[in-house]
Amino acid sequence: MKAGFEGVIFDIDGVLEFQGKVYPGAIELLDFLRIRGITLRILSNSTLKSRRSCTAKLRAKGFNIYESEVVTASFATARYLKTLRPKSCWVMLKREGLEEFKDFRHDPENPEYIVMGDYREDFNFQNMNKALELLLKGAKLIVMISELVDNSMGGVELTVGAYGKMLEDATGIKATFIGKPNKYIFKEALKTMDIKRSKILMVGDKIYTDVIGARNVGIQAALVRTGEFRDRDLDCDIEPDYIFSSISEIKQLFS
Ligand SMILES: [Mg+2]
Repeated sequence: MKAGFEGVIFDIDGVLEFQGKVYPGAIELLDFLRIRGITLRILSNSTLKSRRSCTAKLRAKGFNIYESEVVTASFATARYLKTLRPKSCWVMLKREGLEEFKDFRHDPENPEYIVMGDYREDFNFQNMNKALELLLKGAKLIVMISELVDNSMGGVELTVGAYGKMLEDATGIKATFIGKPNKYIFKEALKTMDIKRSKILMVGDKIYTDVIGARNVGIQAALVRTGEFRDRDLDCDIEPDYIFSSISEIKQLFS
């Protein structure tokens, strides 16, 4: 079943690995594709990881992946923010993701932009209220991902999009969302691929994130029934171009 794809974009969580464990065949699949000259990209909605740290973590697990092939939501957000030439920003984010924002002027007391990623325990009453006040005074809001709930840490938790949408509802101000399924993060990967969109495949485990996101930018999508996939996800109008039971089956499209 040769499908003629020249580039493949992989989600990480639930596709290459889940909750820290690499799926059997994932490392070998990437090697197999690379040997065949397929352009590879990694597209993750992680905000806590920078491009550098995300690559280092994958390499430590045995993936032959390079920094230039990796796009995280924090990386894509920093790239987007740069195009806006912001005077100042308040980046609500933790861990290595913050590395992406080191070149901006940080002014949490009077920011032109509030840039929201995963702020972990600092998503508290004080900070959310501060964000509310700043938005009502004219600050603009960029939210790194629109997803409301995350299961990748082991238990279910509210995530970035939930806090961003709360502020949208409370203020009536529209945020710009960057991560999958929004177009900005895909564009960051696509602009470095130099391949026709009809020849690019997105591989993900979430229909509302990976498959719809791929549709939004005109590329095909394969859904894998691993990670956060549940059968009920298929009870909707969106049909993935391919459905596989695991990552190792992707090989079928190339042999
Ligand atoms: Mg996933």
